Amino acid sequence: MISTSKEINFISIVIPVYNEDASLDELIKRCLDSCEKTNKKFEIIFIDDGSSDKSVEILNAASEANPGKIITVLLNRNYGQHSAIMAGFSQCEGDLIITLDADLQNPPEEITRIVEAAEQGNDVIGTRRVNRQDTLFRRFASFIVNKAAQRATGVKMNDYGCMLRGYRKHIVHAMLQCHERSTFIPVLGNSFARNTIQIDVAHNERVAGDSKYSLWKLINLQFNLLTCMTTFPLRLLSVIGGGVSGVGILLGIYILIRRFLLPGGHDWAVGGIFTLFAIGFIFSGFQLIGMGLLGEYIGRIYDDVRARPKYFIQSVNGKDKVEL
Ligand code: UDP
Ligand code: MG
Repeated sequence: MISTSKEINFISIVIPVYNEDASLDELIKRCLDSCEKTNKKFEIIFIDDGSSDKSVEILNAASEANPGKIITVLLNRNYGQHSAIMAGFSQCEGDLIITLDADLQNPPEEITRIVEAAEQGNDVIGTRRVNRQDTLFRRFASFIVNKAAQRATGVKMNDYGCMLRGYRKHIVHAMLQCHERSTFIPVLGNSFARNTIQIDVAHNERVAGDSKYSLWKLINLQFNLLTCMTTFPLRLLSVIGGGVSGVGILLGIYILIRRFLLPGGHDWAVGGIFTLFAIGFIFSGFQLIGMGLLGEYIGRIYDDVRARPKYFIQSVNGKDKVEL
């Protein structure tokens, strides 16, 4: 049993990094300043998610200059933001674990406010980006996702996409016990929380470079989010399928009556051929959507059955004692 006392003595900051060399120097400096201000013991864990730029050199140098304070975890390849964060969780030792992005969209200065909110006895500290600096498309997608996540977790938070969040140690332990490969950390964390709070935080434009999420990666993330939350869409599929076949049967009866019982039925049936085509297309469209959705779940089940590790830590730099 892990103790859940309110007091926080040790803070771990977990930051996934994928080709962010342009913002790292400033990020490291601002994180160190912000952590010093809390007057608590801290460690900042950077997880390099297979970067091919200078990120690794910058991080290793920072670890050597600040032993015990900055820890660099190297993954052997790119596993994705959420797996990288999980790798960071596996290495952290704090009572409160705070995640944030490396591109400085989440200001490190907010760390102190998250610590305060945790000390009020909250297990998970969510945040809402005020004045969010992202495209309209991203903001619209987030709106839909947040509504779904609110229903699935029962926790009324408005911004599941913001990764500047705090989790008490016991929540992170619970997350590490989850073995699914495709996951979405803010949703997973909330599913283990008793007391949660949401605070407003600032959000800035990316300091350098572009989003590390290509359209495909973003689509994959949305499906991860959906499948990690609920299997409700599968049930919805059966309901829609039932409804559609019901309509099909009614339509069939109507067509038979029109063809054989009503006057001019022969001509009508020939004239109506394209209507039938149209209906056929609609139904096969439904089937394809359904099959695709099933495929998304089955693909993830396949990944979980193979049970390959979610990440592979190649080395850890800057820690006093290294346990892999
Ligand atoms: N990231 C990562 N692996 C990836 C993609 C992103 O570790 O495959 C990191 C990235 O370096 C950043 C954070 O995840 O620290 C968020 O990525 P990004 O800012 O590109 O996402 P966006 O703000 O566009 O949602
Ligand atoms: Mg970003």
